[in-house]
Amino acid sequence: MNKINILDPKVANMIAAGEVVERPASVVKELVENSIDAGAQAITVEIKNGGITYIRVSDDGGGIDREDAVTAFQRHATSKIINAEDLDSILTLGFRGEALASIAAVAQVELITKSMNSDEGTLIRLDAGKMIKKESIGCPQGTTIVVKNLFYNIPARMKFLKKDATEAGYVSDVINRMILGHPEISFKYINNGKEAVFTPGNNNLISCVYSIYGKDYVRSMLPVEYDENGIKVSGLVGNADVARANRNFQSFFINGRYIKSKTLTYAVEEAYRNMLMVNKFPTVILHLNINPAMIDVNVHPTKMEVKFSNEKQVYQAVYWAVQNALYAKKHIPEVTLPKKSAFHYIPPASEKMKISEENQQQEINFVKEKVYIPEVKLQVPNFEKVPSSVSSVPNVNHAQNIEPKEEISNKNLEAPRLRDYKIIGQVFSTYIIVQKEDEMFVVDQHAAHERLRFERLLKEYNKKNIYSQSLLIPVVVTLSGPEVQVVKENMDFFKNIGFEVEDFGNNSIVIRQTPISIEEKVLKDLFLEIVGIVQSNKKDTITDMEIHTLYMIACKSAIKANRNMQQEEIEKLIEDILQLENINTCPHGRPIMISMSKYYLEKQFKRIQ
Ligand code: ADP
Ligand code: MG
Repeated sequence: MNKINILDPKVANMIAAGEVVERPASVVKELVENSIDAGAQAITVEIKNGGITYIRVSDDGGGIDREDAVTAFQRHATSKIINAEDLDSILTLGFRGEALASIAAVAQVELITKSMNSDEGTLIRLDAGKMIKKESIGCPQGTTIVVKNLFYNIPARMKFLKKDATEAGYVSDVINRMILGHPEISFKYINNGKEAVFTPGNNNLISCVYSIYGKDYVRSMLPVEYDENGIKVSGLVGNADVARANRNFQSFFINGRYIKSKTLTYAVEEAYRNMLMVNKFPTVILHLNINPAMIDVNVHPTKMEVKFSNEKQVYQAVYWAVQNALYAKKHIPEVTLPKKSAFHYIPPASEKMKISEENQQQEINFVKEKVYIPEVKLQVPNFEKVPSSVSSVPNVNHAQNIEPKEEISNKNLEAPRLRDYKIIGQVFSTYIIVQKEDEMFVVDQHAAHERLRFERLLKEYNKKNIYSQSLLIPVVVTLSGPEVQVVKENMDFFKNIGFEVEDFGNNSIVIRQTPISIEEKVLKDLFLEIVGIVQSNKKDTITDMEIHTLYMIACKSAIKANRNMQQEEIEKLIEDILQLENINTCPHGRPIMISMSKYYLEKQFKRIQ
């Protein structure tokens, strides 16, 4: 056995640094927390090269007295607690006295500070934890810490850092949290010389949301204000328009500290139950004010996870806080159902007025099919007008024959096709019935169209020629810091699948060209989902990722179920789908069509035994 030694403080600091300082973003987090603890009203964060070569945090807080300036860089040096009892009532963000020592151990650090009590300021410089300079300096009250060349003395750690842009994304996420946690403080964030975010510090959370997420979010956030059992819950929750494909836009703060907690996540998602589509997560910013004695923030070394002494009370307070906020505005559209089943009942016109629009449409279709079919059969198209090449099986179009539409029937005449099938019509605004020889097919319009769209996209993609169109009005999408970086690092990928996008600053991306024409909201959703795929694509090959994305584009651009289709559209769809070889499922694996034989029907109706 080797002899047991007490570690040299320098080595101990380097080990501690491993826990506290993982990357530039962790340095920014510790420094900004110190500024907040010092009572700052304005904090500026500046980084260069993702914070790897340069981080500066300046504040107008209380500053550090000259005699404490050196001590601050020693391990377990803190002004925030003195004894064990203090741990139960911590209201500051830091209290371990580890951050400055750890950061100084793995970088070149400069501190400039002046407290209210001092006439002049102090400048201290440390290289890898060793003090190389200490002198007086004239400066305003407050503290500036500059951290240069992080991990310059630990090349092994340096290797784990990602590209500058990725590290900058993490920094921006930390800053966003600080901003949302402290709307009373004015923040300025400068990245590579450019001002990226500025908040006014007017103690209004909505101003922070505007600065970080953009104006779209401001319109979609509802205020939360609730108090139960001494647990105060306040903040903002987003409606369905700003629901996201992941939980990146959920921020929880307890007494101003950003935390992660499954209890809070569950409570929020329960409160949103049935309001959002599957795999959509709400945007929420919630502040909890709780007696510090009821929480233990010391569970996790990076102080993000908390334990509550009464989980149930906290859960309930958050659940009701969110429910109240959501339902106060009643933004779940009310669904009115028809009074009686459309199968047996044709409502008089007066009653029809009361039926919601969608149901009414379905009902009218049904009425057409059911009631007028015998008549239609009598109205055989006028064969004199039909060119001789047209098949002897006329394509009877029920809807057209009831209300003939000149331009459509002309089109049909212009493009006569020989067909060995007959389209019977659309049912439930979702399925198309086709008769071919002794078979009847029921085609799912969405699944079929999705498959066709996918096949076409794949063909175009393989030819490196995805059809893409410019948007008249470019669409701006707000993302989280890491998401923006994912987009920036994968510009080629987005180009290949037909998206022309550009960085728009302030954590947003502008979409100028797209492979499909869909409404803005759906386009935004699609784009966010694709970013999600790319972000979680660490192991997949690039091709898998692209195929997966093409599926998604196909799905989003395909005709939806519950939509009445024009006769022309139906004909085109059926013609195309019947030409596909050996493909009977949509890209998601659901069937495109099912079939039923004449023989089967005759058996069912006991015409044959
Ligand atoms: P902790 O925050 O856990 O106390 P740190 O290592 O982060 O430990 O900081 C050590 C001490 O240095 C703090 O307790 C505080 O007294 C002082 N300090 C650090 N940053 C600032 C700042 N920006 N303004 C005023 N005092 C500061
Ligand atoms: Mg600290």
